[in-house]
Amino acid sequence: MKEKAETKTKAAPKKAAAKTAQAAPKPKVVSEERDAAVEQKLVSLYALQSVDSAIDNIRILRGELPLEVQDLEDDIAGYQSKIEKLKADMDEIAKNISDRKAAITEIKAQIKKYEKQLREVKNSREYDALNKEIEFQNLENQLHEKKIREATITLEKRKADLERNEEACAERQKDLEAKKGELDEIVAETEKDEKALMKKSEEYQGKIEPRWLRLYERIRNNAHNGLAVVCVERDACGGCFSKIPPQRQIDIRMHKKIIACEYCGRFLVDESIKEKAEEVTGQGK
Ligand SMILES: [Zn+2]
Repeated sequence: MKEKAETKTKAAPKKAAAKTAQAAPKPKVVSEERDAAVEQKLVSLYALQSVDSAIDNIRILRGELPLEVQDLEDDIAGYQSKIEKLKADMDEIAKNISDRKAAITEIKAQIKKYEKQLREVKNSREYDALNKEIEFQNLENQLHEKKIREATITLEKRKADLERNEEACAERQKDLEAKKGELDEIVAETEKDEKALMKKSEEYQGKIEPRWLRLYERIRNNAHNGLAVVCVERDACGGCFSKIPPQRQIDIRMHKKIIACEYCGRFLVDESIKEKAEEVTGQGK
């Protein structure tokens, strides 16, 4: 039964991509062309796959690049909010200091007034009361002065903190600008490569029969790694790693038919096809 299980029938593709352990429905031989013609198709299929894989890689790479810029932007936003908070904190401390200074001025005026009254008192009870009041106001003043000293020290600390954060933020900003420039360049560069590869992809697609192309696209879309054409590696399918019987491996090497993996439906090729395709695409991987 294996001898006939070379390729998929037209009805098979639906199941072809499904990665199931069960064998695909009974396939029939679809192409029996001359060796050279089949070989050419296999080479084109493999070439198409490697070009499409290269396009996939570019898209994956580009997908990650903006993340680095995003990280830096997040860092900067973090510093900026810290800086804002420090500034607000410093404003509050400075206001507290100036409020206390104003209070001291007021108290000093008040004390002067009491001292003037002291000179005009009529009895000792009044004299004592005024003296107590002056003493109290002086204590108040001392408290304000102590608080001002403390606040001044805190303010100095905040200022140093602010400078540190502003420096770090400016550094990140510089990094961000450099990174953005770098990324713009990479994006522009990969866009160029991508366009060239897409042109190649179209070129190889033109060399492949529509029915094979449809099957190729379907398998590729369903495969998480985008591989629809794979090499036989260590006696197994390079896509799903299912073992391939020796006779089938011989058939694959003969290039007489287009052969798909019985399990995952991927097109199977041998090393020589891979090498020929690499000559065509100029990619050696
Ligand atoms: Zn397979």
